[in-house]
Amino acid sequence: MKLLIDLQACDTEMGDLQNRIAEGPLKIKELEKRLAEMDEEYEAAEKQLEDLGREKRGIEKDIEAVESQIGKANTKLSNIKSNKEYKAALKEIDDLTREKSRLEDKAIEFMEQLDSLSEQCRAKKEERERFHEEVNQEKKHILQEMSTMDKALQSLSRKRGKFCKKVSDDLLKRYDFIRERKAGLALSPVFNGVCQACHMEIPPQRYNELIRGESLLDCPNCHRIIYWGDNEQFKEKSAEE
Ligand SMILES: [Zn+2]
Repeated sequence: MKLLIDLQACDTEMGDLQNRIAEGPLKIKELEKRLAEMDEEYEAAEKQLEDLGREKRGIEKDIEAVESQIGKANTKLSNIKSNKEYKAALKEIDDLTREKSRLEDKAIEFMEQLDSLSEQCRAKKEERERFHEEVNQEKKHILQEMSTMDKALQSLSRKRGKFCKKVSDDLLKRYDFIRERKAGLALSPVFNGVCQACHMEIPPQRYNELIRGESLLDCPNCHRIIYWGDNEQFKEKSAEE
């Protein structure tokens, strides 16, 4: 029984390690996903900045065009003879001047947007670089942890091998059979008559039998191999550890 308890402890530890090792690549994947999202965000902001810059240049061209129209209109004005024509020309200049000031307001608006957007871009770039560095460190750390855990797992596996040699083949088969079907836990201590794996009460007769420790019993509910958890000899640490 003591051997089985050691074996179970070994298997539980191995299972934990395997789960934690399996988490490593998932964590790395998650980090890389966030990094890719950040790249996308940054690229989108850069693109927006480019588009806005192009629009601003367009407006500047429009302003130049209006200015040249105003210049032409002014030249025309100095050559006009009739009053009616003069009025019309003045109105044209007036309209063009209004249009120019509208475009100038728009250009200022774009300039402000550009300023704030390029500031955002710069911040995003910095954030992205910082996170890139963080991810590299974190990846290194995770890989290191994984290799440490892998070594621990190998040493546990050797320990398990030693335990297995001391347990009879039939018992080992039974143990492994239950363990595979019971989420890695083939063994359960019973405290105060209650199976600690499924929390069901063991019938008094079987409990008494368990305390006598003459045969290997199982829990009538979860079918795991049970042992009397209050037995002092099972509480001692294994000499192997
Ligand atoms: Zn049980």
